[in-house]
Amino acid sequence: MSKSLSGTVALVTGASSGIGEATAVALAERGATVALVARRRDKLEALAERIGGGGKALVIEADVSDQAQAQAAVETAVGELGRLDTLVNNAGVMLLGPIVGAPLEEWQRMVNLNVLGLLYCTHAALPHLLAAAEGDPRSVADVVNVSSTAGRVARLNSGVYNATKFGVVAFSESLRQEVTARHVRVSIIEPGATATELASHNRLVVLEEMAKNFGGIELMASEDIADAIVYVVTRPRHVAVNEMLIRPTEQER
Ligand code: NDP
Repeated sequence: MSKSLSGTVALVTGASSGIGEATAVALAERGATVALVARRRDKLEALAERIGGGGKALVIEADVSDQAQAQAAVETAVGELGRLDTLVNNAGVMLLGPIVGAPLEEWQRMVNLNVLGLLYCTHAALPHLLAAAEGDPRSVADVVNVSSTAGRVARLNSGVYNATKFGVVAFSESLRQEVTARHVRVSIIEPGATATELASHNRLVVLEEMAKNFGGIELMASEDIADAIVYVVTRPRHVAVNEMLIRPTEQER
């Protein structure tokens, strides 16, 4: 396997499961040293051990919806690993259901993580990414923001999740215009239904509704999305993949 990310450092939020975990493994396989960020330290340590066979990984326990912890996570990665070339803003939560009478706490969790957490990590990382883009080994750096098909198409019972993911798309495009001439690429990844822990945090009544929408279709695996992220960050310096929408073949909407 090509080691085209050798000498680079990537920070992946939400690395303790699902898409983030698969992405950390895939980036390490390409030679990146990876900072693994999430709240469940035991899961991160197990992952670091797996990666440790063929690469290098640093465990950083942090709740990125807390500004101080998000900033400290980025500073710890740079302090310990010396630089930052790739930020994968992947941590997210999806709590679905009708807007009328919704538990406000669910809305707060989604906005605090999917929007504010992503903003805090990006804010802290940008000075380091801009510096990495100025020199060896690649003269380019990457911000990869994991949005969703829900960032493209609004659906019944997904209003606030939609709002957070549409927000990620808008922020990413504005940031792209601001930093792309300085060789920090900003990419949006928009997965459709992928088999992870994501849905499991929903209330039972919502899970039953989701089974009606997605039950029976062949879902994507986290590794399918990790592949897309690796593709994006291993393009030559003059190529920026701005957006990738990836659905399971059987997903209609
Ligand atoms: P998972 O639930 O498996 O992963 C979510 C990750 O986010 C976990 O590692 C979790 O770790 C971490 N996380 C949650 N809260 C916090 C927090 N406050 N601070 C730091 N990390 C946190 O789901 P996915 O892998 O599916 O989700 C990854 C991204 O992909 C999300 O942004 C999601 O919206 C998006 N997505 C997923 C789709 C799917 O069908 N699965 C489709 C479209 C988009 P921990 O609990 O240890 O903190």
